[in-house]
Amino acid sequence: MTTAVQQPLASEQRDMIRDELLRSLTRLERSMKANGLAVRPRDLEQDTVGRLSRVEALQSQGLTKTLAAREQAQLEQIVAALRRLEEGTYGSCNCCGGAIPMERLMIYPETLSCSVCACRA
Ligand SMILES: [Zn+2]
Repeated sequence: MTTAVQQPLASEQRDMIRDELLRSLTRLERSMKANGLAVRPRDLEQDTVGRLSRVEALQSQGLTKTLAAREQAQLEQIVAALRRLEEGTYGSCNCCGGAIPMERLMIYPETLSCSVCACRA
């Protein structure tokens, strides 16, 4: 065992958070993969029915894109949290520099601020 940099969290707490983050990551990746299939453009015929389904396809693609963008952002937050966890900077508030309470981290493991600041939920 190496002497780590000063950590705001005990190592077993970090393990719990890491598990939680990895679980969310897997869930997100699975969901994004499923949406990726839905985004794939359909073969559309030139008749009226085809044109109608093209409009519907575009509408549902728009929804899927919004969802995908949200999931992408969430994915980046989780990856960033995992990186902070590795770097040993995880668990301290980005605003006041104080320690983020464990209860909050268990609910929002990707959070960057404590519940007092909550400047970036
Ligand atoms: Zn704070």
